[in-house]
Amino acid sequence: MTETAIVAGAAGFLGSHLSESLLNDGWTVIGIDNLSTGATANLRTFRKNPNFRFLKRDLTRRVRLPPATAVFQLASPASPPHYQRDPLACLSVNSFGTAQLIEHAHVSGARFFLASTSEVYGDPEVHPQPESYFGHVNPIGPRSCYDEGKRYAEALTAAWERTKGVDARIARIFNTYGPRMALDDGRVVTQFLVQGWTGAPITVHGGGVQTRSFCYVSDLIAGFRKLYDSSVKGPVNLGNPNTEMSMNDLAEKVRELTGGRSTVVHSERGQDDPERRRPDISRAKELLGWEPKVPLDEGLQRTSEDIQARLKRAARALAKATRSEGTG
Ligand code: UDP
Repeated sequence: MTETAIVAGAAGFLGSHLSESLLNDGWTVIGIDNLSTGATANLRTFRKNPNFRFLKRDLTRRVRLPPATAVFQLASPASPPHYQRDPLACLSVNSFGTAQLIEHAHVSGARFFLASTSEVYGDPEVHPQPESYFGHVNPIGPRSCYDEGKRYAEALTAAWERTKGVDARIARIFNTYGPRMALDDGRVVTQFLVQGWTGAPITVHGGGVQTRSFCYVSDLIAGFRKLYDSSVKGPVNLGNPNTEMSMNDLAEKVRELTGGRSTVVHSERGQDDPERRRPDISRAKELLGWEPKVPLDEGLQRTSEDIQARLKRAARALAKATRSEGTG
C-alpha cells in the first residue's frame, strides 16, 4: 500500500527533514505549514517531487485536511525566543491544532505521530531524564506555553488512544541541531554559529554552566522513522546522551570552529531555563534498536558549513540589492 503522510510543520527544521526522508522512501507527502517559523526555502530539495504537495494552512484555525494513512504533528514553534514571542499561538497549535490532526487521524484510520519534547520534564530534578519522570514544570512561567502545550498534546494523544483506540506514537525530542535551522532561530547552536561566522560576540546566557545534550538531525529522523514503524506505545525519548556539555564549553567549541574571531560574553539568562538536560534513551535502545551515531564534532561541522553558505548567500543578495538601489 502506498503511504500518504500529512506532515504538519513541513516547512520547519524537523518537518522538512522528515518529509524528505519519507519522500525518499516513496511516500506521498502533504506538507502543511503556516510559515510562521518555517520557510519555503526548506522545501527546496523536494518541492518539485511529484509525490509532494504543499498547503499553506494555519492549524490554529479549523482547516479541511486531505485523506492520509499517517499524520505527523510537528507544527509548533520550538525555539524559546519564537514561542515566547507569541505564546497564545504556541498554546493554540499544540492544543487545538493537535486536536484537529488527531481527530483527522481517527476519522481516516491513520496512525498519529506526535512530536513532543524534553521540555515536558521542565527544569528536571532527575538526571538523566527517563520517560517515567513526570517533570518539574512552572505552569505559568514564560516557557509554559511550550512545556504545557506539549504536555496537553501528550495528554490529548493518550486520551484519544485510551478512549477511541487511535493508533499513536509519541516522541520526546531532546535538543536537535543541523542544516536548515533558521539563521534567526535563536536556539543555542545556530545562534553561536551565526555569531561566530559574523565575528559578533558569542552570547552565553548566565554563568554558562547549564548543560544540554545535542542530537544531529539525521539521527533524530532515523529515530522518528523507527518509532513510527514500531508498535511501541507511550512516549519515547529521542536524543543524544553522549554529548552533554555546558554552554561555556559549547561557546568555546564554536568559537574555535568559526576561526576564533568572536569574543565570548555573558548575557541575561531566561527564567526557568533548565539547569541540566540529558536523555535516558534506554527505551529507544531496547524497543527500537535505535541510538544516535553522528559525533558532535561531525554534526557541528556540517551545520557550520550550511550556516556559512547561507550567510554568504544572504550577504551577496544584500550587496546586489544595494547596488541596484544605487543605480535605480
Ligand atoms: N543559550 C545561550 N545563548 C544563546 C542562546 C541560548 O547561552 O544565545 C542557552 C540557553 O539559555 C539554554 C541553552 O543555551 O541554557 C539552550 O537553549 P536553546 O534555546 O537552544 O534551547 P532549550 O534547550 O533551552 O529549549
